[in-house]
Amino acid sequence: MGEKFNIGIDLGGTKIETIVLKDELPIFRDRIPTEAEQGPDHILNQISKIYTQALDVVGSDDFTVGICTPGSIAPDTKLLRNSNTLCLNGTALHSMIEEKLNHSVEIENDANCFALAEATLGAGKGHELVFGIIMGTGCGGGFVFNNQIRLGPNLISGEWGHSVLYPDGNECYCGKRGCVETYISGGGLETQLKNHGINYSAKEFLNKKNKNELEIKIFDEFLNNFGRSVANIINSIDPDIIVLGGGLSNLTRLYSQGIEEIQRYVFSGSFKTPIVMNKLGDSAGVYGAALL
Ligand SMILES: [Zn+2]
Repeated sequence: MGEKFNIGIDLGGTKIETIVLKDELPIFRDRIPTEAEQGPDHILNQISKIYTQALDVVGSDDFTVGICTPGSIAPDTKLLRNSNTLCLNGTALHSMIEEKLNHSVEIENDANCFALAEATLGAGKGHELVFGIIMGTGCGGGFVFNNQIRLGPNLISGEWGHSVLYPDGNECYCGKRGCVETYISGGGLETQLKNHGINYSAKEFLNKKNKNELEIKIFDEFLNNFGRSVANIINSIDPDIIVLGGGLSNLTRLYSQGIEEIQRYVFSGSFKTPIVMNKLGDSAGVYGAALL
């Protein structure tokens, strides 16, 4: 059997990163700016530019190409939706890229790529059912079984951030109230802080020493809501491991007090699911893309 090459491209709002894996080991990596303000055609040219560099390294006709990008391809229209690179929303991104690169391409959102990369090469390696959680600006997730992303009939598997925690709770951009995302994402936490007249970023707030009484209350509620939301996942699918990613996943209290809060809501006297920090950091997206 010949060598196995996989090209991964992480298409973000500010940078496009590529990696070439040879038998799952990286042999090339580079990044260029997205320059999204110059529009979709320019972004496609940038993708093509970095892809050509990757191709030179592969030097074989036998390889796969995967793309990781925020948002998702709507199953009915095949158009991109919910991307934070706004000019790409409503475009037929998948077919446009395939045409530009003249090669078939798999495309998947960043939370699913994160979960796949951590399950295959990162903190979840060796576990059958891995749930990956991203706590960043928003709150996403991905569900990987035997190193395969589980998508489901509605392609929303892992969209745990929009399950309702409190029916009359905070308003969410998705049109519902009380979504998990409005409580435990960076953006959600910042909105809550603003409503209390506190002008810290989520990260500044979480890491702030000497919190006052109100701040301690908000912080404890944050950990409590983290516990409730994660316990809902465990009660539903009981994954073998949960890997945390995104900007808020560095908070060490999630892995001590946060785990105690989960225990309160898990339907089992003792819960042993490992809740762990990711291993691949910012690289999970591009690795996940290559593994698609
Ligand atoms: Zn929502």
